[in-house]
Amino acid sequence: MARADEADRLDPLKAFRERFALPEGVIYLDGNSLGVLPAGLSAHMKDVVEQQWGERLVRGWNDAGWIDLPARVAGKIARLVGAKKDSVAVGDSTTINVFKVLSAALSLRPDRRVILSDRNNFPTDLYVADGLARLLGQGYELKLATADEMEDAIDENVAAVLLTEVDYRTGRRYDMAAMTKHIHDKGALAIWDLCHSAGAFPVHLDAAGADFAIGCGYKYLNGGPGAPAFLYIAERHVAHVAPALSGWMGHQTPFAFTENYTPADGIARMMVGTPPILSMSSLDRALDAFDGVDMALVREKSQQLCDRFIAEVEQRCPELELATPRDHDQRGSQVSFRHPEGYAVMQALIANGVIGDFRAPDILRFGMTPLYLSHADIVTAAEILERVMRERLWDQEIYRKRAKVT
Ligand SMILES: *Cc1c(COP(=O)(O)O)cnc(C)c1O
Repeated sequence: MARADEADRLDPLKAFRERFALPEGVIYLDGNSLGVLPAGLSAHMKDVVEQQWGERLVRGWNDAGWIDLPARVAGKIARLVGAKKDSVAVGDSTTINVFKVLSAALSLRPDRRVILSDRNNFPTDLYVADGLARLLGQGYELKLATADEMEDAIDENVAAVLLTEVDYRTGRRYDMAAMTKHIHDKGALAIWDLCHSAGAFPVHLDAAGADFAIGCGYKYLNGGPGAPAFLYIAERHVAHVAPALSGWMGHQTPFAFTENYTPADGIARMMVGTPPILSMSSLDRALDAFDGVDMALVREKSQQLCDRFIAEVEQRCPELELATPRDHDQRGSQVSFRHPEGYAVMQALIANGVIGDFRAPDILRFGMTPLYLSHADIVTAAEILERVMRERLWDQEIYRKRAKVT
């Protein structure tokens, strides 16, 4: 492995760091949980609030183009996930979007009753799938399997398989194209959760043959806390989907205020209610940080940063156990280590200027975001982690006290 300073000198992405407003004195390895503030975004938001909202008031829906904002943001996200512009809709949260696409998928396979997911999937995906099965009754059920059992668990009773491409704890990554093919071979539909994929590495939904997808706006896409999420429906399905959340913003003519619901022609039918223009504007501006970015280079550097972090930490902190696949083709853009006192270790690390996060029961999680992290940052972070471990800086009562958000 090249020395960190040499790798930074040759880094084709180093100029992109200027696109972000990073706080001093912090190495941020949590862009997979909440993305950083893009440079220029605060000024943009001041304009949106004071000029667009303050001055134009309700005229802003037309004059400032608010009504078309979700579709514009969708176009920017579509490029990052390998989708046609008209296959992506932006709005609501990932959780709500799981409900929207899962109910759509089930309606396309009316003879089947099983939703299959990964036992280690992010809980909200499982809670929503379970809730939807209970709502539908009629024998619908959620079945779970581990990643290793997944292929064998897909049979002719399965309507839809709901998988998160990258495991939020371990960073293990499914082979989307291969798994989608396997799902289709059994006559089921593939729904991919891209919360830890979109903006982290190249995603090719259309090429992989995915049926549906959902993803997050506030993680790798840097849209800001609680930013709107997105969903994807393959072109071949859109016209056949009757939205379960049949809201007025998905109506063909919302301002005709007709008595009956007629879905909009395309993906717009997946819109539900009034879009949150402030956070939508924030996401819109944040996505400009990806302008002209070659996601293949992002992937390459992400793998280098992850490899370097693993090598540095394993050499310096033998008591931490790697939880992420060592083969970098089998992981997303994060590195996780296990430690029984993981929560306290992470709190001590944060107190010393390296921000990652903790996921129960024992995972220390570090997200790699190549547009603003350098190889030198990675080495410094490992050095600080080494000091936290060697000097047992974590072994204090204050670091064991759990906050509401971990
Ligand atoms: C972060 C995350 C979510 C979050 O959903 P919200 O509705 O935004 O709270 C859902 N699924 C996965 C896999 C996630 O990583």
